[in-house]
Amino acid sequence: MSALHALGFSIRSIDVLGVRVDDVTLAEALDVCHACIRSGQPHRVVTPNAEFVMAARRDADFRRLLNASTLAIPDGAGLLLAGRLLGTPLREQVAGTDLADRVAGLCAREGYRLFLLGAAPGVADLAARHLEARYPGLTVAGTFAGSPDHSADDATRARLREAGRIDALLVAYGARKQEAWIDRNQAALGIPLAIGVGGALDFFSGRVPRAPLLMRRAGLDWLFRLIVQPWRWRRQLALPRFVVAVTYEGLWRRRRGLRSQASGFEKD
Ligand code: UDP
Repeated sequence: MSALHALGFSIRSIDVLGVRVDDVTLAEALDVCHACIRSGQPHRVVTPNAEFVMAARRDADFRRLLNASTLAIPDGAGLLLAGRLLGTPLREQVAGTDLADRVAGLCAREGYRLFLLGAAPGVADLAARHLEARYPGLTVAGTFAGSPDHSADDATRARLREAGRIDALLVAYGARKQEAWIDRNQAALGIPLAIGVGGALDFFSGRVPRAPLLMRRAGLDWLFRLIVQPWRWRRQLALPRFVVAVTYEGLWRRRRGLRSQASGFEKD
């Protein structure tokens, strides 16, 4: 039984080049996060996009970390395109930044304590101030930049323990490093909900502007990010490669589907 089923959710998943992606809406993803916190058991939410999927194709450990998560939201517009090309459409794009923002709102409403880990020094603190202003009553248990390196784990764990009870943890160390950090440390810290949030703290802090809503709706956040952070161009080469790989896989699935349909007719 999957962790989602154990929490009482029946959510369809699709396979995008070996990575599981759950067909959730933002509202459903927030409900899952709430259930994770209430369960008291450690649950991890991951935010795959095209770059994640391309990295996971080459890195079996990363793929396992993603697929072993409780919830994998469709973070990037590329995944929506992939869903269509693969014949398994997804209902909605759920940006990790939006989910992280709603989780902060949930924490404010329910009295849950939130911790912000990662990003450049000072950024998580600034993000906390902005979230507290946006969600009056929010308790940010603490913030810490720390480091995703294994050697820093003891020091980071000590900082988190000092903060007292933590119900939800946002980890901003970028793809792979944040999922690996959560995998190594979450259970020992007894934190029920941990989300790898990539650049969300940069956005919350106001230091990096987010793409305007219209661009996000059009699936063009990658273009905006490329303009604002042009040094990411090399990483973004993953996007055209992703489209090619997904198109190829979609054609292959269709041919295989047609063939199995044809053999089905033969049998009948
Ligand atoms: N980051 C960090 N330590 C590192 C690598 C990254 O704190 O060793 C932070 C970085 O400052 C940023 C976040 O991780 O706030 C994620 O960055 P990115 O935008 O690259 O996320 P991704 O696109 O991988 O989700």
